[in-house]
Amino acid sequence: MLDIRIEKAAVKKSKPADDSLGFGRHFTDHMFIMDYDAGQGWHDARIVPYGPISLDPSAMVFHYAQELFEGLKAYRRSDDGIQLFRPDKNIARMNSTCRRMCVPEVPAEDALQAIKTLVDIERDWVPHSQGTSLYIRPFIFATEPQLGVHPSKKYSFVIILSPVGSYYAGGLAPVKIRVERKYVRCVKGGTGEAKVGGNYAASLLGQQEAEENGYAQVLWLDGIERKYIDEVGAMNVFFVIDGKVVTPSLADGNILPGVTRASCIELLKKWGYTVEERKVSIDEIREAYENGTLNESFGTGTAAVISPVGEYNDEGYSIRINDGKIGPISQKLYDNLTAMQWGKAADEMGWIVPVE
Ligand SMILES: *Cc1c(COP(=O)(O)O)cnc(C)c1O
Repeated sequence: MLDIRIEKAAVKKSKPADDSLGFGRHFTDHMFIMDYDAGQGWHDARIVPYGPISLDPSAMVFHYAQELFEGLKAYRRSDDGIQLFRPDKNIARMNSTCRRMCVPEVPAEDALQAIKTLVDIERDWVPHSQGTSLYIRPFIFATEPQLGVHPSKKYSFVIILSPVGSYYAGGLAPVKIRVERKYVRCVKGGTGEAKVGGNYAASLLGQQEAEENGYAQVLWLDGIERKYIDEVGAMNVFFVIDGKVVTPSLADGNILPGVTRASCIELLKKWGYTVEERKVSIDEIREAYENGTLNESFGTGTAAVISPVGEYNDEGYSIRINDGKIGPISQKLYDNLTAMQWGKAADEMGWIVPVE
């Protein structure tokens, strides 16, 4: 058990209205912090008032981006209980990202205790309206004050919380995606499978150019052959081709192993669908479209759960999917996952962790 020192905020913030939340714009009254020093390990776990963190200008995170993060949510049930969805998966992924980034791991039970304790203290911040939740952002960054390039000897592990609005206030509207031909997000052997800020920094320009051209997100192709599909924006991607569900496999290490992705695969298999995790080329998708066998496509991630794709545009070649409407498999996954997350359906898969 972590010994967490708790310092309560003297003044509480006023809470924003549920219909004005947006994503990641409001933060709760407290945050969790724990420090690491080589030789001492993780120490000094505390929950303190939310506020700025003071760092030396030479702190390594500013120069060499030794940083990683996670993202999960706490949901309010209709009986006002608060629950988490598969936090063990996020914590395991955080530690696998730690290994890739030469960052010391956080014991899984300590990370879960930190998340639960903070969410419990802030439970009044979990919004009530349909589709809203409390987004949980754990992150770790290198704080050693020096400019040599090597793994830092000092880190901080911080957790902040943000009440977020319903992603689909206006219904599950399919989005338009640009197939990215100029930039790549990662390459085999790189950090594609690690949840790190650096991957996002590298993706901003492609995303910005896509938005300027009227697209919501980009479809990332592999960095070597520019042929195989990796992800859509910051989501994992699925296709339904001739009734079979196909998604890029994790084997090459290019793809972030999404908790939503894994949950969709498990549910689809349980329901009796054929699910193939394998390489998926953009040519295969164009061909399926031309043959009329491209039934559906959707992105998966914690923020949106399921994000249906209405169209891919590949340098002017338009792949329209299901008349720009959400398909039945996308809808079924969305309905079932959200029912479990908000406690409206029984937890048959054992995925729910209550915050007592
Ligand atoms: C976090 C993330 C995802 C989605 O993962 P979930 O665990 O389902 O939220 C997908 N792709 C990238 C690049 C991500 O950072």
